[in-house]
Amino acid sequence: TDIRSVTVLGATGSIGDSTMDLLRASPERYRVEALTANSNVEALAKLAKEFSARFVAIADSTKLADLKAALAGTSTECGAGESAVIEAGARPADWVMAAVSGAAGLKPALAAVDRGAHVALANKECLVCAGDFFMQRAAKAGACILPADSEHNALFQALASGNRDELVRVIITASGGPFRTWKPADIEQATLEQALKHPNWSMGQKITIDSASMMNKGLEVIEASYLFALSPDEIDVLVHPQSIIHGMVEFSDRSVMAQLGSPDMRTPIAHCLGWPDRIKGPAAKLDLAKIGQLTFEAPDFERFPGLRLAFDSLRTGKGATTVYNAANEVAVAAFIAGKIRFGAIARLVEATLEDWIRGGNQGPMTSADDAINVDHVARNKAAALLPQIAL
Ligand code: NDP
Ligand code: MG
Repeated sequence: TDIRSVTVLGATGSIGDSTMDLLRASPERYRVEALTANSNVEALAKLAKEFSARFVAIADSTKLADLKAALAGTSTECGAGESAVIEAGARPADWVMAAVSGAAGLKPALAAVDRGAHVALANKECLVCAGDFFMQRAAKAGACILPADSEHNALFQALASGNRDELVRVIITASGGPFRTWKPADIEQATLEQALKHPNWSMGQKITIDSASMMNKGLEVIEASYLFALSPDEIDVLVHPQSIIHGMVEFSDRSVMAQLGSPDMRTPIAHCLGWPDRIKGPAAKLDLAKIGQLTFEAPDFERFPGLRLAFDSLRTGKGATTVYNAANEVAVAAFIAGKIRFGAIARLVEATLEDWIRGGNQGPMTSADDAINVDHVARNKAAALLPQIAL
């Protein structure tokens, strides 16, 4: 088989780590074109050396000298700043993993999309932020978007067993996070440490907090809507605490197709990496006899208002999902910094959305700059509303 060239945007993160692990296992299949990080020079330089990357980019430009020093004597080229991360996406690689955290990943992912690359998309915020437009650009350039998020990867696999007009609905599962059974008053007061204890998945900090608030599931509902052109009525959320079934698709004959797997991101990433073939994933088999039972519950929209707000913002359309994401990024950063209570995350998102709808300035969303403008306006608004929400 041909050697595939790959780029990993966000190589030093949790998804980046799983991706590098799979690349490490098949050196005969893959060659690394570019790797990027935000500020972790040490980890980036180590990966660049191990994989003989042709180009590395660090978003924090104050770290360029350190990066150059760490890679002295190698043939790896270095760049710094946002433009260098975008350049990493633009450089010729057959396959690009988009695993930057947050809307900061939008432009680098678009650079890969515009080349018509195969883009494995973990960075759900960039899709939620740029909406339909992201998928339109992919269609125009002939890029193939491979969903790396476990639920969407499951839907992608299950969708292959029927036609679009035979689809009734998709079901996205949710573990329910660490606060699934907590009283609302306790969730309100939850600490950072408690929010960072995810029952099943080991992930980056931001998405772990999003899982505790179920904002992550909200982002995933929006992500599914854009990825697969689904209306909000065609998307259901089902709480499944064991995280073994990741997603299901129901067809007109009431057949429900599901994808199962251990909660290990290497499985959906391996699917994206191998596609349209299959490559080796994690060593351990799925042991259902040992797991014993799979259970299901309806999601609690009262306890987790962030989930309700995701459906609302999808129905509002015209940039509301961009606002939803931006306000959540501001809220999560404020929670990590100890400025707001856990319960205030959803309240800040709701207040920012309400303000934005009242403002009536919902313009078209036809370019990356439109999306980035709405993102900036929403971030500023969320920051301005923060003090009153914090009380
Ligand atoms: P991490 O926080 O672990 O990693 C984020 C990566 O992006 C790091 O390489 C980081 O660099 C880099 N980065 C952060 N901010 C910037 C920036 N402003 N500019 C450029 N690079 C930046 O996140 P995860 O790996 O957990 O998540 C990545 C994405 O994948 C998110 O969108 C998340 O929602 C999604 N996802 C993650 C899953 C998981 O299991 N972790 C599951 C499904 C989706 P540095 O190391 O230098 O900080
Ligand atoms: Mg997911």
